[in-house]
Amino acid sequence: MHPMEMSGNGRDAIVLIGAGIVGVCAAWHLLRRGENVTLIDRDEPGLGCSFGNAGALSCGSVAPLAMPGVMRDALTMLLDPSAPLRIPLRYLPKAAPWLRQFVRASHPDDVRRISQALSGLLANSIEKHVEILGDVGVPGVVHRTGQLYLYPDEKWLRKDAMSWQLRKDHGLRIERLGREGILALEPDVGPDYAIGMFTPDQGMSVNPHRQVTAIASDFARRGGEIVRDRVTTIEVEGHRVKAVCGENAVYACDHAVICAGAWSTQLLTDLGYALPLESQRGYHVTIPSPGITVKRPVVAADRKVFLTPMEGGLRAAGTVEFGGLMRDPNRRRAHYLVRDMSRVFPRVQIPADWSFWMGHRPCFPDSLPVMGPSRHRGLWFNFGHGHLGLTMSAVSGDILARAIRGEPSNIDLAPFSFERFDRH
Ligand SMILES: Cc1cc2nc3c(=O)[nH]c(=O)nc-3n(C[C@H](O)[C@H](O)[C@H](O)COP(=O)(O)OP(=O)(O)OC[C@H]3O[C@@H](n4cnc5c(N)ncnc54)[C@H](O)[C@@H]3O)c2cc1C
Repeated sequence: MHPMEMSGNGRDAIVLIGAGIVGVCAAWHLLRRGENVTLIDRDEPGLGCSFGNAGALSCGSVAPLAMPGVMRDALTMLLDPSAPLRIPLRYLPKAAPWLRQFVRASHPDDVRRISQALSGLLANSIEKHVEILGDVGVPGVVHRTGQLYLYPDEKWLRKDAMSWQLRKDHGLRIERLGREGILALEPDVGPDYAIGMFTPDQGMSVNPHRQVTAIASDFARRGGEIVRDRVTTIEVEGHRVKAVCGENAVYACDHAVICAGAWSTQLLTDLGYALPLESQRGYHVTIPSPGITVKRPVVAADRKVFLTPMEGGLRAAGTVEFGGLMRDPNRRRAHYLVRDMSRVFPRVQIPADWSFWMGHRPCFPDSLPVMGPSRHRGLWFNFGHGHLGLTMSAVSGDILARAIRGEPSNIDLAPFSFERFDRH
């Protein structure tokens, strides 16, 4: 083992664990403030959940996943094997405590409180991404294209009425469209969709993986250190963090930030934290030459599937599958995405040899991340960004950097505290 020396320049040594979009954005904010930052990942940056998301920058998505009536909807979905939600029976006992907290969070008062907290992380998210990507020299990765949500009929739209009301209450511009309006925006949308909800101010990333790697490369170019190592433990002395221990070395530090996505809590059980982080496994299928032109993220709202035109082709992404971090991916889940893509865009050309990807969304039952200080001095949390981690990452990195440096912030960290789950 080679204990890393503390920097001799008088600045605190800050070690971040996890180089997904959440970790690299936090690292960027800290380095920009002149901090001495090391970013550790067991892999190359951006190969976790951040690799293959739908690329939607959903700055108005203030409705949490657990909405009133969620139990009824979930039970209906569980009876349909092709539904966007899947919980394998064998996994149900493991998921049950998380699901109980999820249902509890769907009370209308909680939904309003959570949506208020979400709006603080989402409101200026696209501006923050633009700032970071401009600074690192790849401004073209994100675009304010708008997003188009599609519904077959009024009945389906009514199911989402409260979500749309919350978005509206928080200031999102929404244009309701009929068939003609849908076709004016996206001429290839098929006849099954009669109602569109267009949100002109939302946007997308054309390549979420390139977004992470561009920020990581720039971070390294400007003096940040990226280390490839698997972190095994966080070493503390009394109530203060002392070092991050990897398989290859021990990294002495003044501050350690956990940004390890769905794997974050694995590093915390030895320290006595009990946080209900669950992986919601999502899938994508990208068709490199779809034979049609799509201009913006199109969402089949009845199937909860995003169809995003990316640099690498047209991507269908979505589904929520419980099953933990170890179970193999299930090709059938991806097959449903391919079917959904053909339903939304009947003229799309899908080759027989399509391949798929599965990633672990790091999810807390109340749809909010855990961000801010821990019970140990110098140990910080920044994980659990769930379905909106790409969108939130640029703002959450800023908030975290301010908290570590003791700078004022206009966002109250209380709703994101780990203590909402774990009061010792
Ligand atoms: C199908 C799908 C579609 C999605 N669509 C969207 C979308 O459209 N918009 C949006 O905003 N969000 C979306 N998301 C969510 C978003 O992708 C995630 O919230 C986000 O990527 C989480 O980022 P992260 O950095 O926290 O985690 P990750 O990207 O998973 O990064 C965690 C990193 O930690 C590293 N790590 C873990 N354990 C250790 C260890 N012990 N030692 C060292 N390194 C470790 C991993 O290697 C990994 O690189 C989607 C997710 C999925 C699956």
